[in-house]
Amino acid sequence: MKKIWNLETKNLIQQRVELYGFVDNIRDHGKILFLDLRDRSGVVQCVIDQSNNFFSLAKNLKPASVVKIIGYVQPRPAHLENPDLETGKVEVMIEKLELLALAKDLPFEVTSDGYEINEALRLKYRYLDLRRPRLQKNLRRRHEFLLFLRNFLDAQGFIEIETPILTKSTPEGARDFLVPSRLYPGKFYALPQSPQQYKQLLMVAGLERYFQIARCFRDEDPRADRQPEFTQIDIEMSYVERDDLLNLVEKMFIEVIQNLYPQKKITKIPFPRIGYEEAIRLYGSDKPDLREDPQNPNELAFCFIIDFPMFEWNENENRWETMHHPFTQPKLPDGSKDKNELIKVLETSPEILLSEQYDLVLNGYEIGGGSLRITDSDILIKVFEVLGYNKQEIEAKFKHLIEAFSYGVPPHGGIAPGVDRILMILENETNIREVIAFPKTGENRDLMMDAPSEISEKELRELGIEIKRSNLK
Ligand code: ASP
Repeated sequence: MKKIWNLETKNLIQQRVELYGFVDNIRDHGKILFLDLRDRSGVVQCVIDQSNNFFSLAKNLKPASVVKIIGYVQPRPAHLENPDLETGKVEVMIEKLELLALAKDLPFEVTSDGYEINEALRLKYRYLDLRRPRLQKNLRRRHEFLLFLRNFLDAQGFIEIETPILTKSTPEGARDFLVPSRLYPGKFYALPQSPQQYKQLLMVAGLERYFQIARCFRDEDPRADRQPEFTQIDIEMSYVERDDLLNLVEKMFIEVIQNLYPQKKITKIPFPRIGYEEAIRLYGSDKPDLREDPQNPNELAFCFIIDFPMFEWNENENRWETMHHPFTQPKLPDGSKDKNELIKVLETSPEILLSEQYDLVLNGYEIGGGSLRITDSDILIKVFEVLGYNKQEIEAKFKHLIEAFSYGVPPHGGIAPGVDRILMILENETNIREVIAFPKTGENRDLMMDAPSEISEKELRELGIEIKRSNLK
């Protein structure tokens, strides 16, 4: 007997099969009963009549129950074929029915596309929400997308390397999530805002071509296209010019789209490369939407924005910030990277500096950023000084990197396209939560696990932490 996916029944006429799945719905016609069985491959109609010993069991089944069915695959009479169902030309005559798990009434419909259901409820019961064919499809597409990129990068000589989650703050411009240390009371790990410093240290280590499907954590205020934890295809390469990196990323996206989304049309190849100033002048934005027809769901308009200013002024805090991150190589307005000149300008007029930052933009969304990196410690220290760090702070926070660079550092650069946003666009979704298995809500809560949540007095004591109740909202 064959244990098979539902979808395979269409090619197994006159054969006895063994099926497993959820009961999607039951249609009771008195002497005969139809039952739609769903597994991850799809739905097949099963039939049982009253002469069968399992008929009363079938009659008492509830939708969503989990069953095992042994039966014969038979063709449906022509007038009963269902063209909307992939298995619509066949049905399975039930011989044996086994109830593996009874289901109580579900809090919502799981066969519809789900947009009509309150999102908080969907997220509270995400394990049921994920039964929805649309979300199953999104997760499968996400898997195929990542698998394709992994293989693509592997073929280009990259290796995937995992970097720590418990680490030290890396400045990417957001607030850190912190983890208290039990063994060192009063000290904290930070969750990585990105693997930025580790991937640069891997270049110092001579790995030359690194990638990682990396989780990043940023304690920012939520938005529809943002999550407190998100996934990047994090890439770093040694001995490259900017265009080597841009060409690689361009090729990667063209190939993945041609292979997995052949119905989509890329507006312009090669992707336009637009200077930051020009983008602002022409489109009023550094993430312009260059689609020729924004109503067309199958159009993908990529572009790279290049030549960003190195710094921008933070009005609220009265200080300079880097447009990308402090590890980005600055350059003079004429493109020169002369060390003495750079140091002089960093000391006197940082606002005129450009940088080797580049962003990848798709349909008006920034879907990734990267840069060539500073490998000269004197310049790195000067950049930190512009940002307002003093010598001791630079020493305490970045000594490891500065020291590493003193042992011979290959020129390097990288980029990190964000997986969630790209998939949102490719799958024609309007919210990144639709392409993430277990996302947080718009208020950064996990309603299913009920996180964040309080911890016990004992745990607090072990960590040497006291909660000031008056500070709680
Ligand atoms: N770490 C950077 C980011 O998360 C990407 C990069 O510079 O490679 O935006």
